[in-house]
Amino acid sequence: MCNAKGGVGKTTSATSLSAFMAAMGKYVLLVDLDPQANATTGAGIKLDPDHPSLYHAMINDHNPELLLKRTSVFGFDVLPASQALAGANVELVEMDYRETRLKKVLNSIRTNYDYILIDCPPSLGLLTVNGLAAAEEVIIPVQCEYYALEGLGQLMKTIELVRSGLNPDLQIMGVLLTMYDKRNHLARQVVNEVSKNFPGRVFEAIIPRTISLAEAPSYGKTILQFDPDSKAAKAYKQLAEEIIKLTK
Ligand code: ATP
Ligand code: MG
Repeated sequence: MCNAKGGVGKTTSATSLSAFMAAMGKYVLLVDLDPQANATTGAGIKLDPDHPSLYHAMINDHNPELLLKRTSVFGFDVLPASQALAGANVELVEMDYRETRLKKVLNSIRTNYDYILIDCPPSLGLLTVNGLAAAEEVIIPVQCEYYALEGLGQLMKTIELVRSGLNPDLQIMGVLLTMYDKRNHLARQVVNEVSKNFPGRVFEAIIPRTISLAEAPSYGKTILQFDPDSKAAKAYKQLAEEIIKLTK
């Protein structure tokens, strides 16, 4: 999940999708690459601030297997973040293999999972580059709001750059439209404009703007557990089905 723009629904989509894929019988690992650690807490994982996290695997070579946390959804595990990751953007600069540290961490555990989702931070720094270098495909959540396409040019350039060196096989799986409000004319315009810019690359599932998606993380629950009959839950279930079909 990658978009340098903040607050577009990367984390909400990563946690919701992980939960629904796991509910469909897949083994899913959610990697929290953001020092804000929203994916970790949103998946219901509570850690002390100095608890070892992905940071220690990437920077201090901790065994990632010992860092994995189970969520209350069977098959859905989290590789947690902590605030320490905020230092990683700077510390990585001086390190060998600074762009491929996450890839190395994930290589030792990837065979345990059907899907690994990486929740990127809202920047195009070294952490995000590590995410793109480790990924096979990118999902770009885009908010159905004014300025939705802002910053996407820079993201595309970064993806191109990663493709030209670190990860030639990196693909864009699709653009995910989030926070759609059907009462808002602008939202429909954004849907049209994004479809024009990414022909054939926009997921059919469109995530509605709903209060339950905003509330769920404060209970440490994904929408699957918090409000499974909501429109938002149905949309994320549809997205999970689309992705499972695309990746068969
Ligand atoms: P950041 O760039 O800070 O990591 P993000 O792209 O991960 O942000 P989220 O944290 O998923 O975005 O969402 C931003 C805020 O909007 C959160 O408070 C979240 O609960 C809320 N939110 C996300 N999706 C929806 C939605 N479809 N409807 C209503 N609120 C939403
Ligand atoms: Mg986030």
